Amino acid sequence: MAKIETLAWLDGDILPVQEIRVSPLAHSLHYGTGVFEGIRCYAQEAGGGGLFRLQDHLARFFDSARILGYEIPYSAEELTRAAREVLRRNAMDTAYVRPLAWLGEGQMGVAGGANPVHVMIAVWHWGAYLGEEGMRRGIRVHISSYERSTANASAQRAKITGQYVTSFMAKREARALGLDESLLLDRDGYLSEASGENLFIVLRGVLCTAPDASPILHGITRDTVLLLAGDLGIPVRLERFARGALYAAEEAFLTGTAAEVTPIREVGGRALKASPGPVTSAIQETYLALVRGKGARAAQWITRV
Ligand code: PMP
Repeated sequence: MAKIETLAWLDGDILPVQEIRVSPLAHSLHYGTGVFEGIRCYAQEAGGGGLFRLQDHLARFFDSARILGYEIPYSAEELTRAAREVLRRNAMDTAYVRPLAWLGEGQMGVAGGANPVHVMIAVWHWGAYLGEEGMRRGIRVHISSYERSTANASAQRAKITGQYVTSFMAKREARALGLDESLLLDRDGYLSEASGENLFIVLRGVLCTAPDASPILHGITRDTVLLLAGDLGIPVRLERFARGALYAAEEAFLTGTAAEVTPIREVGGRALKASPGPVTSAIQETYLALVRGKGARAAQWITRV
């Protein structure tokens, strides 16, 4: 990615990203105790930018900090104003928006102390996360040799920076193999999710994804897709499934704010029956129209910049 030369919001001020300095003694830099979000802002059909499901992302942001044991020192209203201001000041209608909170300088032990909580919101242009061709034709994935952590080893429903070490290694593993993405099994051998996306399969016409109790991030795109599938009359099942179901599936795709709805073309060298298949195409098309303001659900989910 090119150097990001934009204005960011930091603890109440708008500053050029290049001028922001973070202490090398910031607690979170050492122990992975930051929390973050990824939100997309889309140019709306009606003009101007619109943040998709901002309030749901902020709710997860607050939850992530709370799960870790600290509070974000700003309200949802303040962070909403901050996100809109950053987009306006950068004159961006289309952007990826990254809120990040971290524990700053203070006590250096693992538990920290009364270290200040810093919050920043940065924005950048981010095209198709898994590539334009991936969006059109589908991506090539494999089942990672890394495993998703267990329920009591971390808190998968939180977006905690330190938890992304496994994702980092899994994604690097995929890249080293010339693939686009890694799927991670859970401890019991069921498919959980990808390094930064949730996984769906279509098996005998039914759309399946791992249930909420699985060790997965409760993706906001996953939730959107489940609701859109209902609108489109596609049967849905929240159920654990193992690799056999994935190999037998008619279609498979990944969902995420960055990845949107990305079809999977191949798993571990095996071609899926269809990529993109009809269910994936219908969901992808409906999703990409919704985020730009089309459809009955748009008004409730889009915050105009
Ligand atoms: N799983 C993981 C591990 C992720 O990092 C992400 C991206 N935030 C997702 C799933 C998808 O979540 P969302 O749809 O809320 O972006």
